[in-house]
Amino acid sequence: MNKNETLEAVLNSDDLPTLPTVASKIITLTAREDTTLSDIANLVTIDTALSAKILKVSNSAFYSFAQQISSINQAVSILGINAVRSLVLSFSFLTMKAGKKKGRFDFEQFWKNSLAAAVASKLILERVKGTDTEEIFICGLLQNLGELILARTFPDKYDAMLDKISKEKIEISKAQEETFGTTHSVIGYEVAKNWGFPEVLCLPILHHHDPLSYKGDNQKIDITCKASYLSDILISILYSCKPQEFHKRFRREARSLLGISNHDVEHILNDVHVQVDQAGEYFGLRIKNTKSVQEILQEANIRLSLINLDFDQMNKELIQTKIELENVAKELQKKNKLLADLANIDGLTEIYNHRYFQNSLDNEIGRAVRNETEISLLLIDIDFFKKFNDTYGHQAGDFILKEFSSVLKNEIRKYDTLARYGGEEFTIILPDTSSTEALTVAEKLRTAVDENVFNDSHTDYHVTASFGVSTARPVTDDTFSKGKLISEADSALYDAKETGRNKVKLYSKKKKWYKF
Ligand code: GH3
Ligand code: MG
Ligand code: MG
Repeated sequence: MNKNETLEAVLNSDDLPTLPTVASKIITLTAREDTTLSDIANLVTIDTALSAKILKVSNSAFYSFAQQISSINQAVSILGINAVRSLVLSFSFLTMKAGKKKGRFDFEQFWKNSLAAAVASKLILERVKGTDTEEIFICGLLQNLGELILARTFPDKYDAMLDKISKEKIEISKAQEETFGTTHSVIGYEVAKNWGFPEVLCLPILHHHDPLSYKGDNQKIDITCKASYLSDILISILYSCKPQEFHKRFRREARSLLGISNHDVEHILNDVHVQVDQAGEYFGLRIKNTKSVQEILQEANIRLSLINLDFDQMNKELIQTKIELENVAKELQKKNKLLADLANIDGLTEIYNHRYFQNSLDNEIGRAVRNETEISLLLIDIDFFKKFNDTYGHQAGDFILKEFSSVLKNEIRKYDTLARYGGEEFTIILPDTSSTEALTVAEKLRTAVDENVFNDSHTDYHVTASFGVSTARPVTDDTFSKGKLISEADSALYDAKETGRNKVKLYSKKKKWYKF
């Protein structure tokens, strides 16, 4: 819909509310220059129910006059014509409900908010020196009239627009533009004009969302537009979910638009909730226990700090969980490695076992083939170990096996592989090592063992070992096999034993041939 279609539909709609007779007549009467106070009083007095309501409000804290006002005549002369008009209109509008077809628009809530805005506007303007506040109440009350009119005239479209607002999180004025081609400010203004409202009441409806858009030179209208605008912000402190934001805005804009001092702003903020509740009572709307601005801000701050605390707490817990998870992962990695190691490690000596030796020898032979290097193997057997066991006991024997392993381990390179071959036999794979170098290593090891004092904190022991050495260059040796390399070392070891023990022997074909 575009603006003109909407306006035409609104103004010609059967659902456009008509003003009650008294309200309509008071508009006409007050527009005439020759109208006297008693003309107004006589008109209002016809409606006894309305008169009673006006007298009740006139005598309330809302106006706080010292003297008792006991007749409409007195009310008109004390309050002024415009104030009585304002009251008549207020009572007329506050009963305005939905049209024939009802949508989701909450009319009761709308009037509660409007009444709060009316109270807020009056409170604000009372703090601006030299202004009369007779009409501000009705301006505040009717500033959002256009919303009610749109909801009454187009209930289905209005519902769809409400859905759009909640789904797309867009501002109400933008949604109204998209749906109706215009805003509630324009609709409210046009309808009020159509009812014959004077400019002083119509124009603030048009400009209440953007008071600086009023370019006329009527100072009263200018100030009323600004007060209506500020009242919208003030009631947003009471009813929106972002009270702090509106609180800051209200303080800033009250000063910049109407020059209201901090001290006066404080008064407005302190009074608004009490006045809203009182107005609810005077005008017959159920508004109760409106929270004070101070309380609302306190609660909002607590909520914010709770959210932050929750976030901090959540963050801490997340970090803690992450650390724990990382630790578990590390622990698992360690355990897995330990498990893998356990399968490859000899339980007594804590060096590699026979299985690992076999795999490792395969790998090292593969590497020697690829790199075309030599590989040497040592087989080591402790001398007369049976006798050692027999003499000192099996436990001392175990101690020797452990200590013997660490003596060997301390003497070899990082990339040599020491393993327990079985019983009191050990083996060392020496990658990229010639027979001469292997003999040197073996001799160094033999000496280290021979010179080592095996002390189990009770007794000093002495053991020796015999070493068999075999070497091959697998890539150039057609007869090479892993088995052959091992058995040649074994053969050399046998040789070492045969020739007196505590010796190093290199495998020699010749000798082997000699022997057999
Ligand atoms: P040789 O100098 O000819 O090697 O004589 P030996 O007594 O060392 O050789 P033999 O093969 O006759 O005996 C090996 C001994 O090693 C027998 C066995 O009790 C001992 N032995 C093997 N494994 C262990 C072990 O785990 N703990 C202990 N305490 N002794 C072991
Ligand atoms: Mg043996
Ligand atoms: Mg032995």
